[in-house]
Amino acid sequence: MNEKIGIESSAGQALLQPDDRARLYARVFSGSREGIMITDSHTRIISVNPSFTAITGYEEAEVVGKKPNVLKSGRQGPAYYKEMWASLVRNGSWQGEIWNRRKSGEIYPEWLTINAVRDETGTLTNYLGMFSDITERKHFESHLHYLAHYDSLTGLPNRMLLRQRMNDAMARAQLTGRLVGVLFVDLDRFKTVNDSHGHAIGDRVLQRVAERMKAAVKPSDTVSRIGGDEFALVLELQKPEDAAEAAVRLSRKLNRPVVDGEHELFLATSIGISVFPHDGADFETLVKHAEFAMYHAKEQRRECEQFTTAISDTITRRMELEHELRRALERGELSVCYQPQMDAAHGGISGVEALLRWHHPQLGPIAPAEFIPIAEETGMIVEIGEWVLAEAGRLWKELSEEGLALTGVAVNLSTRQFQQPDLAGRLQTILEETGCDPRHIVFEITESGSLYEIEAVLPTLQQLKAIGAQLAIDDFGKGYSALGYFKQFPLDILKIDKSFLKELTTDSGSCVVTKAIIDMAHGLRLRVIGEGVENQEQYERLLELQCDSLQGYGIARPLGIDELRSYLRNVRSLRGKAPAYLAWTEAARSRTKGARG
Ligand code: C2E
Ligand code: CA
Ligand code: CA
Repeated sequence: MNEKIGIESSAGQALLQPDDRARLYARVFSGSREGIMITDSHTRIISVNPSFTAITGYEEAEVVGKKPNVLKSGRQGPAYYKEMWASLVRNGSWQGEIWNRRKSGEIYPEWLTINAVRDETGTLTNYLGMFSDITERKHFESHLHYLAHYDSLTGLPNRMLLRQRMNDAMARAQLTGRLVGVLFVDLDRFKTVNDSHGHAIGDRVLQRVAERMKAAVKPSDTVSRIGGDEFALVLELQKPEDAAEAAVRLSRKLNRPVVDGEHELFLATSIGISVFPHDGADFETLVKHAEFAMYHAKEQRRECEQFTTAISDTITRRMELEHELRRALERGELSVCYQPQMDAAHGGISGVEALLRWHHPQLGPIAPAEFIPIAEETGMIVEIGEWVLAEAGRLWKELSEEGLALTGVAVNLSTRQFQQPDLAGRLQTILEETGCDPRHIVFEITESGSLYEIEAVLPTLQQLKAIGAQLAIDDFGKGYSALGYFKQFPLDILKIDKSFLKELTTDSGSCVVTKAIIDMAHGLRLRVIGEGVENQEQYERLLELQCDSLQGYGIARPLGIDELRSYLRNVRSLRGKAPAYLAWTEAARSRTKGARG
């Protein structure tokens, strides 16, 4: 501190005169924003600056002659001061963070630098302490810490802190032989709360859910928000069953309605469980497995589900397919095949149904029953469905140019496609581009669940009719089909589900029901197609029941385009009769002959 300070004038020379220098030092001392305290060699305070007073609250007169320990907060133990003195003796200086007490009694953090000052002979004369109040910075740091570890909406630990707590819990569990459970909680249909009531209410619901979760577990357990409407809990368990019990308790608490002003919101949750060490050895795996179990619970419509490797396999496969399906169209892995439909009375081919196929280069052929639900859930079916329609339209056009015109090409429409604005307009445009008249297209729809709230789809169905297309109700009898319900739909065709056909020849009850369906359908002026016709017996039975058309492996399997071409040429050469029809009528004739003779 007492080394020479050379300050040059603007002229670039002349050191300060001693008097000037003293004045300047005094200015620095009194003007410094840092608190400064000078003691004698016995650490008795001899002078402090105005910032000292501003920070500590003590006037100079109150501290002169006293030792700096008037400021001591008691937060640091003797060891801390011992180390400080050791450094002062060793290096002549010390720097560090220290908690002191203001005159008001308030404790505050400061950043302190102490220097030992010696004269020319090397004798210790003074100590010089300079410090700044770092309360603000501390607040900022702890705020940063908070932001990094907590979710600001609910105040719950976030994923990062959850990981730390989980790691601690796993380490403890390894010592004690106990278990750690991870509960992955997802609110069902939370998006609709946000969409229909607004984000402010959505946020309050999440806060309420967070409170309920905290109330449902022990204080030592961790509840964390790890995604929009996803929470994870880490629980220390005695035995594996404890996790499921906790999950059931939790979902009871969560599934009570949330009242917000005049709104009463009903929440449902799905919970997945994984347990350390059985279901994973690290945080990421355990959370992932709990999440898998949660998906499974959601699918099965159960409130909670425990992780198993079977669940893992199903979900891994599903995720793989979802990933691969995103590229399937552009990679040309998708194709459409066509299954002929036979006119029951005359044996002609009245149409075909377009059926989607996926052949993956490594995974091989993947069944539509497996990948179509994925395409529907992810919304990919919209693009794929439009592509199928374009393929079907092009095929119809090509065949008619070859003199093989089909009355109708049936194309399946997913319920998901009805969410598209102006569906009929889009489909019409696609058909125009292919040069196929919409009158040759039959759209097959299924009555899956909530979509068929009539008000919602009726206008679209009417628009599809208006562009000239025909409509068929698919898989009739598979669900809770009530024919009266469909009276309001502008339908042309009813397809009886193949499950009926299976029983048609074995179960006389099923025969009665099928007859009733066909009669009612005819009463509503619908054509009836029997699906899944595999043999002559089923064909004859359907003929008796006045079914109009037949489709099934017994007539023809779904065919690739070239196979379909040769099939249709063959039918043409048989004067418009399907080979199956000829074989079956021939067989029936020889049977009656045999019976007569
Ligand atoms: P679906 O619309 O009921 O199609 C008829 C299904 O029955 C087809 O299965 C067909 O191959 C099968 N089938 C035909 N004849 C017989 C038979 O005699 N016996 C038996 N056991 N089955 C027969 P596929 O091709 O596996 O399609 C399954 C489902 O996937 C379809 O059921 C349909 O719901 C859906 N799907 C297929 N292609 C498309 C499409 O392009 N778009 C949409 N949205 N869904 C499609
Ligand atoms: Ca169909
Ligand atoms: Ca069907």
